[in-house]
Amino acid sequence: MDDRYSRQIRFQPIGEVGQEKINSKHVLIVGCGALGSANAESLVRAGIGKLTIVDRDYVEESNLQRQQLFTEKDVEEKIPKAIAAKKHLMKINHHVTIHAHVMDVTSLTLSELLHDVDLVIDATDNFDTRFILNDTLQQQRIPWIFGSCAGSTGMSFTIIPNETPCLRCLLQSMPINGSTCDAAGIIGPAVQMVVAHQTTEALKLLTHATNKLRANYLTFDLWNNLFQTIDMGRAKNHDCPTCGVNPTYPALDYQNQLKTEVLCGRDTVQLRRGTNLSLLDLAKRFESFTSVKQNDFLLSIEYLNYRIVFFHDGRTFIHGTNSITAAKKIYYQLVG
Ligand SMILES: [Zn+2]
Repeated sequence: MDDRYSRQIRFQPIGEVGQEKINSKHVLIVGCGALGSANAESLVRAGIGKLTIVDRDYVEESNLQRQQLFTEKDVEEKIPKAIAAKKHLMKINHHVTIHAHVMDVTSLTLSELLHDVDLVIDATDNFDTRFILNDTLQQQRIPWIFGSCAGSTGMSFTIIPNETPCLRCLLQSMPINGSTCDAAGIIGPAVQMVVAHQTTEALKLLTHATNKLRANYLTFDLWNNLFQTIDMGRAKNHDCPTCGVNPTYPALDYQNQLKTEVLCGRDTVQLRRGTNLSLLDLAKRFESFTSVKQNDFLLSIEYLNYRIVFFHDGRTFIHGTNSITAAKKIYYQLVG
């Protein structure tokens, strides 16, 4: 093994044997924003054999504050994040095989990406995609590492099918803060902290050091000096529709997925979730950065150049665009 990985090999728990394992593995990173680009960089420097990156978005100026792989030139040229990331990663370590995909991860597209994947890292910005990951990876018995951050807070949990509770079990036993970085803002160190945990768990999994995996749910708030791990030993629900005895994988059911539709002649896109929206929670979240108009049936805000109306029954109108891609992006920025 050349000098390149000598310090990592000298780290006894990895050693030559662990390094060879890392060099032979394939990781899929879903999302290439702040979490995705930092995880990708760490794994490429560590000598991962193959990396697949998938992201639907392109690089914008507001990304540069924390999305460490991107440059002003990427912003100028509106380069898709997955492509820009691949370009920079190849310069860091040309031995790694990198596949970049510019696309939306859905229950259909995800399966095609999973061929020979050993591990998936969650770097998405929304729970629709995370539930699709949760069901699909449980079904295919592929481990994955959940991660999320907003403001100065973050959380992470390592999910091993058949062993740990899944994301659905976790959310049933934990009220997880649904804030997004567009609503709550974000500082770079919150990203780095989540990534440090995700990449370390990834290295343990890839070197088969499974006895060292963190079984706890991790949550922290760097600004307020809070750091907590919560025991999830009892969180596994035997009736869970994802990881229980009779799984139905509800997130893979078309009925439950986010539906989109352009409303002809109205310069509006409608998005529809299978579940109701809590207008009260949304109002609380939006009040910090925009004025909220509300009645018994709906809630309306102005955001960027759009007017957005949320209905209690799970529908949302984004006025000011005919683009489903743009509408979904705004929706996930606001709702997560
Ligand atoms: Zn479960």
